Amino acid sequence: MTSPSNDNGGRASPPCPICNAPPAQDYVPFCSKRCADVDLHRWLSGSYAIPAEEDDSEGASTMEDDS
Ligand SMILES: [Zn+2]
Repeated sequence: MTSPSNDNGGRASPPCPICNAPPAQDYVPFCSKRCADVDLHRWLSGSYAIPAEEDDSEGASTMEDDS
C-alpha cells in the first residue's frame, strides 16, 4: 500500500492553457481542437518573427589573384 497522498494516479497532466480544462488525449495539451486552434492563431499572429537573412553576396568578387 502506498501512503495516501493527493496524487492523481501519479500522472499530472497540465490543464488546457487556453481554458484550463483537462486536456483531451487527441489534442494534448489542449482540451479540444478549438483551443488548439486558438493557440495556433495566437502563435501565428503573435511572436512569429522570422529573422531577416542578410544577403551577404553583394559584389561578386572573383578570385583573381594575378601576381
Ligand atoms: Zn481548452
